[in-house]
Amino acid sequence: MEEDERLLPILSNVARQHSLAAEYDGSGNKAGDISADDVDKLAQHFPLCMRHLHARVTEDHHLKHGGRMQYGLFLKAIGLSLEEALLYWKRVFQPRINDEKFAKNYAYNIRHNYGQEGKRTNYSSYSCAKIITTNHPGQGDHHGCPFRHFNADNLRATLRASQVPEPNIQEVLELVKNQHYQVACTRYYEVTHKVPQGQIDLIQHPNSYFDMSMGKTPTQNAKELDQKYTFAKENDTGAAAASASPLKGKPAAAAAAPFAAPGPVGPTKEKEKEVKPPTEDQSFDAMLEGDVPDF
Ligand code: SF4
Repeated sequence: MEEDERLLPILSNVARQHSLAAEYDGSGNKAGDISADDVDKLAQHFPLCMRHLHARVTEDHHLKHGGRMQYGLFLKAIGLSLEEALLYWKRVFQPRINDEKFAKNYAYNIRHNYGQEGKRTNYSSYSCAKIITTNHPGQGDHHGCPFRHFNADNLRATLRASQVPEPNIQEVLELVKNQHYQVACTRYYEVTHKVPQGQIDLIQHPNSYFDMSMGKTPTQNAKELDQKYTFAKENDTGAAAASASPLKGKPAAAAAAPFAAPGPVGPTKEKEKEVKPPTEDQSFDAMLEGDVPDF
């Protein structure tokens, strides 16, 4: 494969991750769009990673630091204001954590996420790439990506609980086995939302999943990207334009799926290259100033 051909989708992904991060940094003044009371009913639109965190905190009345960061920044980006976030977390931590302990040990962290403490950085919610490749969850942690971090039995049970038909569970597990985590999540979205295969672009961000599920983003710009890559290839080597597009074709397992795609586009292995797991875990907490104890 030509060097440019391999790099194009990767560079595009980097650019898109960048723009998605900007889109979901909470600065679009969506704060106030939702209240603490809305979170439970909106959870049906959360991607699996956030549904898992929502379920755990609702049942356990606690999340460790990694979970609070991943979930808290996601909630911020869907429109939970600082005041409503403080209310939500205080409520959901009860009765395990009383008001005094909450104010002492957790409120600072929440205000910090909203840029009201420390260096006053307005933190962005995490992209799929960041969740998949950094800060591997340890014992007692619930953050991370279920497609990346659950074992096969746990993921199978989770998919069954989400009413995913058995043939699609096998399909998703096969994608996961081959480390196509975001393709698996995209396939999960298609199946659970009854969207024909190939109609949406690869899931890149938990908040774009949410926005799509809420109908705020109809479908992503698969066709636009397809044209862009076709144009780039035609002006590059002059080789067949079709082979240059990262949106042509599908992973073998997905192509053989029972929900065969009527649409011409879909995610490919090339688009996933960027998010293969690193050889060693990196702690993104280290990137945050004012690190807080993990209560
Ligand atoms: S692929 Fe992204 S949105 Fe989907 S579960 Fe994993 S981290 Fe969440």
